[in-house]
Amino acid sequence: MAWVVHKFGGTSVADADCFRRVAQLVAARAGDNLAVVVSAMRGVTDQLLGLVERAAQGVALGAEIEELRTRYLGTVIELLPAPSAAVLREQFEKDIESIESVLKALSLVRSASHRSRDLVSGFGEIWSARLLTALLQSMASVRVPVQFVNARDILIIDSGEMGPIVVWDESRRRCRQIIGEKFSGIAVITGFIASSREGLPSTLGRNGSDYSASIFGALLDAAEVEIWTDVDGVMSGDPRRVPEAKVIGAMSYNEAMELAYFGAKVIHPQTMAPAVAQNIPLRIRNTFNPDHPGTTITAAAPARETIVKGVSAIDGVAVINLEGAGMIGVPGTADRLFGALREAAVSVMLISQGSSEHSICFAVREDAADTARRVVERAFAVELEQGQVQRVEVTHDCAILAVVGDGMAGLPGSAGRFFRTLGNAGINVRAIAQGASERNISAVIAGKDMTRGLRAVHSSFYLSAKTVSIGIIGPGSVGSVLIEQIAAASERLRSQFNLDLRVRGIASSRKMCLGPSRIDLAGWRKELERGEPADIERFVEHVQTDYLPHTVLIDCTASQDVANRYAGWLERGIHVITPNKRAHSGPAAYYHELKRIARSGNTHFLYEATVGAGLPVINTLKDLVVTGDDIERISGIFSGTLAYLFNVFDGTQPFSEIVREARARGYTEPDPRDDLSGMDVARKAVILAREAGLDIELDQLDVESLVPEKLAKASVDEFLERLADFDAPMAERVARARAEHKVLRYVADVDVRGRSARVRLDTFGADHPFANISLTDNIVQFVTRRYSANPLIVRGPGAGPDVTAAGIFADLLRLCSMLSGNED
Ligand code: ASP
Ligand code: MG
Repeated sequence: MAWVVHKFGGTSVADADCFRRVAQLVAARAGDNLAVVVSAMRGVTDQLLGLVERAAQGVALGAEIEELRTRYLGTVIELLPAPSAAVLREQFEKDIESIESVLKALSLVRSASHRSRDLVSGFGEIWSARLLTALLQSMASVRVPVQFVNARDILIIDSGEMGPIVVWDESRRRCRQIIGEKFSGIAVITGFIASSREGLPSTLGRNGSDYSASIFGALLDAAEVEIWTDVDGVMSGDPRRVPEAKVIGAMSYNEAMELAYFGAKVIHPQTMAPAVAQNIPLRIRNTFNPDHPGTTITAAAPARETIVKGVSAIDGVAVINLEGAGMIGVPGTADRLFGALREAAVSVMLISQGSSEHSICFAVREDAADTARRVVERAFAVELEQGQVQRVEVTHDCAILAVVGDGMAGLPGSAGRFFRTLGNAGINVRAIAQGASERNISAVIAGKDMTRGLRAVHSSFYLSAKTVSIGIIGPGSVGSVLIEQIAAASERLRSQFNLDLRVRGIASSRKMCLGPSRIDLAGWRKELERGEPADIERFVEHVQTDYLPHTVLIDCTASQDVANRYAGWLERGIHVITPNKRAHSGPAAYYHELKRIARSGNTHFLYEATVGAGLPVINTLKDLVVTGDDIERISGIFSGTLAYLFNVFDGTQPFSEIVREARARGYTEPDPRDDLSGMDVARKAVILAREAGLDIELDQLDVESLVPEKLAKASVDEFLERLADFDAPMAERVARARAEHKVLRYVADVDVRGRSARVRLDTFGADHPFANISLTDNIVQFVTRRYSANPLIVRGPGAGPDVTAAGIFADLLRLCSMLSGNED
């Protein structure tokens, strides 16, 4: 059976609880050939190194040693049965004695050698490994032998210029001798420490335990090395900057290497080398969340999960630009430039030169910028003086933003998407570099744009193009049904269409609730009840976040104030969906402005539900217009309430009584005059007229109100009571119509050709489509060049929360399909 190496870092063994957790994890995997590499308890290496430094300054260290003792022995006593605790205590006291004698020597000579540092700092790992060994041995569930292994007995290293160099032959020989051949069970190995060829104590450098794990993986020909730490794995972005970052399931060594450079600090590139050389998979896992599968790092990542594995950035970067006509076609310029930088030990992070060779630019750490400029100016002093090189220009406060992924190689469009995203986010790109491996594309941007850039790029590569941040304003009868409809459909939309609809804010006129990621729609009413006082500015601020690609605000109010905000929203890239008629039927100038902003900003403005609720009226009309038909006339019945009243009113029952009954059933507005005045119908007529290309204002319409003038100012009750006084003229009208075999209908009529529109109570023959509607049906008839003898008719229920909400929902889905069309 092949070995598996597990490594637990300092935070994983920080205290007694942590040791217990680790022991459980190991016990659950107990069997033959299990190697466990441990770090020092969190902070212990620092403390030990501190002892060395302060001893060299002659400081007395009794208290600090006592602190180490209390912590370690406290943990030992808590975890182990008394006899083995006693053994460990004795070993510890011996170690402390050796440490004290070293410290004493250091304080005498007032200096610390690196050997003394290596010797003292390595005890943390020895203590951890001893403790874990004893703990595992004491567990009934561990039925295999458990052996403590001091890595100094096995691992031999030379010190090289770029860090320790493993002496493989010798280490392998010793490993076979001590662990490999005669032992089967659990080997608990100290991380971090090693020996020199001469047998002197050495270490692998700070955070060296991961490296130890990878080396032991290679020495033992392990099947896998699992690095247990305190995060779930390598993330697609820094979660402090990119809230949507997720754990990457699988990646290649190369990708891990690139990301590590860009600050995904989970694993150091050097750590991977021994594993890479032997093709051993590395796995990053979370001690505190062991059910999470973590990140697996192998030679070649399996089937591409996503094109890009991670998005990363480094700030504190300066860009230096060397420019001059004198460099064109002159060989050796780059050599002189970078040679000079090398001499000054300035490390260059990114280089870019256009093929015109007119300028060459490179990025360095901010703190090296001044040196770099001086060095370059000196190297090109003559050229600068003679004007062959015009200037050396330094731009401070930059950041390098990079996307990393093997999947980008040979895949057209990834660079395109990267830069398009930055462009859409309004971020200027100063310099660009892409290696021929195509694994990494880097852009230099202003430091202040870094977080925004990270989020935008992350979302464009990671989230579905159809992840939409939604704010709903006005959860009244229609708004609340809309919320229910979205809640009911969201799972299906996600699985079938990869559509992620996130309602992140709901606001009524009084209150609002905001969800960081999304609002749990099952409990939205309670959320809203518990919410904060409504503040529309803050609401919009929250819903539009730069880590989600698209924002839409849905206005389910009838408020003029809300409608007045659309322009501002569209301007800042927010899509607007509304059944609110105010914006479209108000001043034509505003209507046109909204259309213009939407067109120029590539934002969408959808309002199907303003006319005929969910019936496809606006979209039908738009289709007619864009396909080049000529609209001659639009007429129809646009009020469910008035449709109902005149469906029932045939003269057998007084009109006032029908109104009262309808009100009691909830078919009218609380004040029926809002329906009877015809203004609601007039607004719809204006919307249709404008959509058909006829510029008209609401007050230019000829509107017949059914509210008797004398009752216009009365209270609602008084109105309902006195309406009967006006039954006679209505009865007369219906009788006259009946005599002609006609019916009364309240209709809007937009004569596009004649550039006029009116709203009135009219009569229609029994065979006219308007005569044949039921209940609260709406009907609209389009007479066009194509549909002339036989007009196009849309008919069906045109009122009620269900169909209205469905009309809004359909707009939302229409928006989503437009958005994904925009992406790729
Ligand atoms: N204990 C060592 C350090 O803190 C090694 C490690 O934890 O990886 O640097
Ligand atoms: Mg550590």
